[in-house]
Amino acid sequence: MQTLEVDLGERSYPIHIGDQLLSRGEFFREHIGGKQVAIVTNETIAPLYLDRLVDALVGVTVTPIVLPDGEAYKNWQTLNLIFDALLTARLDRKVTIIALGGGVVGDMAGFAAACYQRGVEFIQMPTTLLSQVDSSVGGKTGINHPLGKNMIGAFYQPQAVIIDTSTLSTLPPRELSAGLAEVIKYGLICDEPFLGWLEEHVQALRSLDAAVLTEAIRRSCAAKAKVVGADERESGIRAILNLGHTFGHAIETHQGYGVWLHGEAVSAGMVMALEMSCRLGWLPASDRDRAVSLLARAGLPVTPPADMTSEDFLRHMAVDKKVINGQLRLVLLKRLGEAVVTADFPREVLEATLRVDYD
Ligand code: NAD
Ligand code: MG
Repeated sequence: MQTLEVDLGERSYPIHIGDQLLSRGEFFREHIGGKQVAIVTNETIAPLYLDRLVDALVGVTVTPIVLPDGEAYKNWQTLNLIFDALLTARLDRKVTIIALGGGVVGDMAGFAAACYQRGVEFIQMPTTLLSQVDSSVGGKTGINHPLGKNMIGAFYQPQAVIIDTSTLSTLPPRELSAGLAEVIKYGLICDEPFLGWLEEHVQALRSLDAAVLTEAIRRSCAAKAKVVGADERESGIRAILNLGHTFGHAIETHQGYGVWLHGEAVSAGMVMALEMSCRLGWLPASDRDRAVSLLARAGLPVTPPADMTSEDFLRHMAVDKKVINGQLRLVLLKRLGEAVVTADFPREVLEATLRVDYD
């Protein structure tokens, strides 16, 4: 088991990472202030892990709230189901909400915690690799609106994050690889030695070696915690966490959400950001190739969809000639392990990057 601390002054909290932590109540009981717990989860995760967690919660009353599964349900209607259940069970301001699931459950449960009775305590228990290394840390919570993803929400930090690596054994391998895209991202943006470590351990990660997973998650969370600690509300440096995401969002939008997993789109998007960094003369081609090969070994796509043109990218990146000279900011690499957020690049370099035949 490993523990690290997210340092946010009075909103600081620990992240515990290890095998079988869901069954080990000693690691989270101290973060439950009252006698009432509500567990928010979904219909896929409940049959797998709900009993295990309920058994570990001795001495408190537990209200399970089981939501439908899917990004399509990350909306106001489903959020209201959480409030219905909390109110029906007459849970008061001392309730602790536990989010047991992936990023969708975590984002919704966290937002419900921020709103219910003007804010109650909550604990993140993420069960996908993506949520363990990314969404459970940093306090962004929320839901989608028909007019935009994650458009309604709040910054709201949990009391603790409890990461049980054994939950990854039931995760579809494609979802695991999608989480590895964000893990590799941390190496690229701020931890070059971690990239070398990942090159050695990518196979062990894909075969779910508990000790190796714990170490990869710890280093990823440490990277995210450091960035979030420096810029909790994303007024500056936190944006480096979006490496590959502007290109990736264009891919997700073009394909229709859910065709490519987010991590898959981010992987191809990071390849494009690396390519652009090379073209700006910042990154040697050998470093780009090294990163591309690691992403491929993690089971991730390293080329954008074959049918997507540079015009498609420009359209989805909302780039017209005016915006490009003023505002489009991209996360690029000055070198491996050092990202910058910049609007200072010639439009031709972006266009050339979009026209590259990546196959
Ligand atoms: P997800 O929550 O949809 O989970 C993916 C699928 O895996 C779901 O079907 C889920 O039910 C299933 N699942 C979860 N754990 C499982 C397990 N242990 N075994 C078997 N199946 C399991 O997707 P995700 O990738 O975890 O999260 C994506 C969401 O996170 C998006 O809504 C995104 O906006 C959000 N997000 C938030 C932040 C943030 O900072 N708050 C950061 C990144 C992403
Ligand atoms: Mg992401």
